Amino acid sequence: MLLDVHDLKKHFPAPGARWGEKAWVRAVDGVSFSIDAGQTYALVGESGCGKTTIAKLLLLLEKPTAGRIVFDGHDVLTLDRAGVRGYRRQVQAVFQDPSSSLNPRLKVRLLLAEPILAHGDMERGALDQRLVELLRIVGLPANSLGLYPHEFSGGQRQRIAVARALALRPKLIVLDEPTSALDVSIRAQIINLLADIQREFGLAYLVIAHDLALVDHFSARVGVMYLGRMVEHGDSDAVFAAPAHPYTQALLASAPRPDPDHPPREGLIRGEIGSALSPPTGCRFHPRCPYAMPRCAQEDPPERDAGGAVLHRLSCHLETAP
Ligand code: SF4
Repeated sequence: MLLDVHDLKKHFPAPGARWGEKAWVRAVDGVSFSIDAGQTYALVGESGCGKTTIAKLLLLLEKPTAGRIVFDGHDVLTLDRAGVRGYRRQVQAVFQDPSSSLNPRLKVRLLLAEPILAHGDMERGALDQRLVELLRIVGLPANSLGLYPHEFSGGQRQRIAVARALALRPKLIVLDEPTSALDVSIRAQIINLLADIQREFGLAYLVIAHDLALVDHFSARVGVMYLGRMVEHGDSDAVFAAPAHPYTQALLASAPRPDPDHPPREGLIRGEIGSALSPPTGCRFHPRCPYAMPRCAQEDPPERDAGGAVLHRLSCHLETAP
């Protein structure tokens, strides 16, 4: 196992709460999952479900309130400075919008060389070779090194962001909505590129997305999040073929698909996602769930198996999927 996340929590002080008042936004509230080397795990859910906070916790941009992150056998939250440096080298990220993640004042040469120079010991000749190799991997010509980000299309800029993430030969890349800022026509190219790179280098991906087409395409495991909790998770084929949680069912049914026989169905869940500041009691989805029973408002549903031969678990009081 490459990454093991156990009972991770991130509670932020509520905005406007006065000192001494105990008001917390429970952005992530006890989430567990694991990723094997070379595997893709996808976290999906609406905005505000906590998936981007998990990405920030894994990238050490935020400190967890509780829980454990174990990477390659080491507890990340107890690493010393050298250990953190090594972890940062092995866990890289590609964000949604390459226009804001790439410094517009730097040519591609420096954008790609920066992480290598910051961590390293590479000699000039070897560095140039490595930069050209990175461009080859992402399908850009060697003369791209002398250009600025604005001289590329959106899709090409995302290729540069991927090359930069690969510069330190990481084991895991966090892909935070990597295609959602791109034209639909370009998305498939970037998805295929990421899949090719994974095959070539045996990388693991954590994909944060609400584009379920992206998730369906190449994730082995999926976790569905709602208001800071994982409500259903498991083998992607099993979850996509037979979603068992009412929220997952509605999310999948409303997702755009290329199949005209299965148009997206809007309005399957009522209202907006609730507030992580005062999440509903019992099952957090109960105010929006069409199958809610009286106990749903009182009892937090424990996690259980959905049945079947592969990993597939959910948290719901219904004994059989609706
Ligand atoms: Fe709906 Fe109840 Fe299941 Fe929650 S526990 S998803 S409210 S049926």
